[in-house]
Amino acid sequence: MDDMRITGLLLAQTLKAIGIRFRIFESEVSAVRYRPREWAVAIHWALPMLREVLPQDLWHRLKDTQTDPLQLASNSDYISVYNSGTGKLLKKLPGVGMRRFSRRKLRALCSEGIAIEYNKTLTEIVYQNERGVTAKFGDGTECSGDILIGCDGAHSKVRNLLFGEASAKPVSSGVSQFSASFSFSSAAFADYMRRGIPLSSVGLNPSGVYLLIYLLETPEPASPETWIFQINWSWLGPHDPSLDDAGRLAKIKSMADTFSEPFRSICLGIPGDTRIYADSLHYWVPRLWTPNRGRVTLAGDAAHPMLQHRGQGINNCIRDVLELANAMKLGQQDDHGLMDVISSYDREMISRGEVEVQSSVKDALLLHTWHKAMESPFMKMSVGPRF
Ligand SMILES: Cc1cc2nc3c(=O)[nH]c(=O)nc-3n(C[C@H](O)[C@H](O)[C@H](O)COP(=O)(O)OP(=O)(O)OC[C@H]3O[C@@H](n4cnc5c(N)ncnc54)[C@H](O)[C@@H]3O)c2cc1C
Repeated sequence: MDDMRITGLLLAQTLKAIGIRFRIFESEVSAVRYRPREWAVAIHWALPMLREVLPQDLWHRLKDTQTDPLQLASNSDYISVYNSGTGKLLKKLPGVGMRRFSRRKLRALCSEGIAIEYNKTLTEIVYQNERGVTAKFGDGTECSGDILIGCDGAHSKVRNLLFGEASAKPVSSGVSQFSASFSFSSAAFADYMRRGIPLSSVGLNPSGVYLLIYLLETPEPASPETWIFQINWSWLGPHDPSLDDAGRLAKIKSMADTFSEPFRSICLGIPGDTRIYADSLHYWVPRLWTPNRGRVTLAGDAAHPMLQHRGQGINNCIRDVLELANAMKLGQQDDHGLMDVISSYDREMISRGEVEVQSSVKDALLLHTWHKAMESPFMKMSVGPRF
């Protein structure tokens, strides 16, 4: 298996539990390498599937990886969508049992007991004659096995090797995003925000700006001024590459000055030295590769990188892991059986991923177009499952 983060780690946990031998490779240099970029992920319809793929002891500690450990899932949870210009509540969407997790903590939990081989960058795949496949790495080493599963993220090398670089390249959606993590200097405001945004709050603006705010971490639970919040601020159009962090923050603050509360204070409360990341959001619509020999497959963002406004990416990663583990259990008996069930997995995962990726693009385009936002998949079906 080629990868480390959530998809690869969950797959490793479930393969270990069902007794299927694997090796897991990661291009990052080591486990302790600090990743300054963090965000949280909302898991909702795939939570019951996560329970199936995680060993029991990890499932019982999953709550410790929530961004807000005090937040308990219940069907009464909801996502509030406001007009950030007037403060009017546009819609209360069902939360579908949603819980928000720190990716960093979730990764740490899911890597327990897994021997990850670091500093292994996949560069080449070689098919053996009749059966089996060899993964070659940048350091000159290689590993052979029955199948290779590429869980190597949105810019997947495995996908490149299956489709060729040009066909595998992520496509620009035309949507740009600023994101920032920061603490409010006012403990009272931080406390108010934590109570006011139990899951997440979304502000849509007639200018086309989409704003999501959520609690990312509570390093010192008793000190609200240490709590870290995150915003994602996105719009339809390019971002100006000449702007530095200060320029991006100035842009956010000048636009947010016309917003209603609490959106105005959230944005104006971002400290002046905050790092503001700017991204152009990309996607890639999955399709079947040929020849499909059932010896190499994809899972997670490697297979279906999508836009995140309806929060479906990781939920589909979890579903992939469950489907793949079930297929591998079935195919354990003989090698040709294994290749057949992997090909069946490919077809299910691709048809599900194709619909969701295309929907994520439509969703993002509508959500950033004020008079059409209510027609978006997010506003119509919240974060609920499509399949
Ligand atoms: C801002 C934001 C918010 C999001 N919010 C949500 C949400 O609320 N709900 C939701 O469902 N989804 C959400 N998503 C999507 C979610 O984060 C992704 O779907 C998920 O994290 C993908 O995990 P992955 O393990 O498939 O890929 P990744 O996390 O990208 O992991 C890929 C791994 O492969 C390794 N790798 C890459 N190339 C190689 C190589 N050549 N050789 C070896 N290793 C390699 C990388 O180092 C990395 O560790 C969000 C995404 C973003 C950007």
